[in-house]
Amino acid sequence: MIIHSKLPNVGTTIFTLMSQLAAQHNAINLGQGFPDYAMSGELVELVVAAMRNGNNQYPHTNGLPLLRQRLAEKVNKLYNTQVNGETDITITVGGTYAMYNALTTILQPGDEVVVFEPAFDSYLPNIEVNGGIPVLITLPYPTFSIPWDEVRAKITPKTRAIIINSPQNPSGAVLQPEDITQLESLLEEHENIVLVSDEVYEHLIFDGKPHLSILRYPALAARSFVCFSFGKTYHCTGWKMGYCIAPAAMMAEFRRVHQFNAFCCPAPVQVALAEYLLNENAYLELSSFMQQKRDYFRQMMLQTPFKPIPSYGSYFECYSYADISNQPDKEFAMRLVKEKGVAVIPMSSFYKSGLDNKLLRFCFAKKEETLAAAAKRLASGT
Ligand code: PMP
Repeated sequence: MIIHSKLPNVGTTIFTLMSQLAAQHNAINLGQGFPDYAMSGELVELVVAAMRNGNNQYPHTNGLPLLRQRLAEKVNKLYNTQVNGETDITITVGGTYAMYNALTTILQPGDEVVVFEPAFDSYLPNIEVNGGIPVLITLPYPTFSIPWDEVRAKITPKTRAIIINSPQNPSGAVLQPEDITQLESLLEEHENIVLVSDEVYEHLIFDGKPHLSILRYPALAARSFVCFSFGKTYHCTGWKMGYCIAPAAMMAEFRRVHQFNAFCCPAPVQVALAEYLLNENAYLELSSFMQQKRDYFRQMMLQTPFKPIPSYGSYFECYSYADISNQPDKEFAMRLVKEKGVAVIPMSSFYKSGLDNKLLRFCFAKKEETLAAAAKRLASGT
């Protein structure tokens, strides 16, 4: 039986590939973004208790009402909004699913979606599987700031959505107040464009900068699907839990798709998260916790010839190897796994064109000893 592929150009993701290679070569894995330290024991116990208490059947399709209520209280306080947990929030299978479900809700065949590259790898397939057309804009290296004139030039009557991601994976760039002003004035002129905002790293933002959530800006929030991830916030990427926030009418459409997609998310985890959300410090302290790791890793990397391209958020930092080699980044990354025992992600994987600026993405959400050991390996005779 032949299946005509809806995604003929997509193979195994680079994250899976590099993680496999890391295991094969017994390498330290700074490639795929996941912590190698334990998540909160208290949160684990809350899930266990929720299961023991019988929370093991389908919860509400939109998410446990108490969890949505607590999330509404959280974002209303943090971002000075008036999100309604009943109508404006849906619990999803991680941030990726929130983005996919939002794009599936919005897109009709032939619709154009503006995507900034380097981009998280799920965006383009999410658009293409829905018959949409990605319109790619390259963020200039090394600032990775949005070139607004180019965005304006690429808007057409078919533009249906713009995807933004701050803090950005893989560059670690974050939106600045000027970006918000630009976005507001641009969208004011184009009432048909929906914003899909990937804010999974909302609590991983450094150097005292506030997270400029789209939810803070009423005119933008009124036309946005804003996507979040518990996995990033609570060090449990394997839980694949997240949520999406949008105005009630948009969220109603999102839910039409969601109820025949995942239908709902794991019940005991939602009960536990609703309780754990009362602990504000668990997320408010995350930025300084992760900033220490960024700074520690940077310090350790001083013994190597790799040069950091400063990250202001997320748990990634890119490093240039231009002073070490002229090899294409994929080849160079393969060499590092095999010869040095360190797995990283070559940045060209985040561009459809494979643009190669001789950069590698490192994940620093790791124990200090892991980061120190990786830097030591990279320092030895590179
Ligand atoms: N968006 C971005 C920018 C990400 O980096 C990730 C995770 N790597 C996700 C979404 C996915 O989040 P989740 O694991 O909750 O699906």
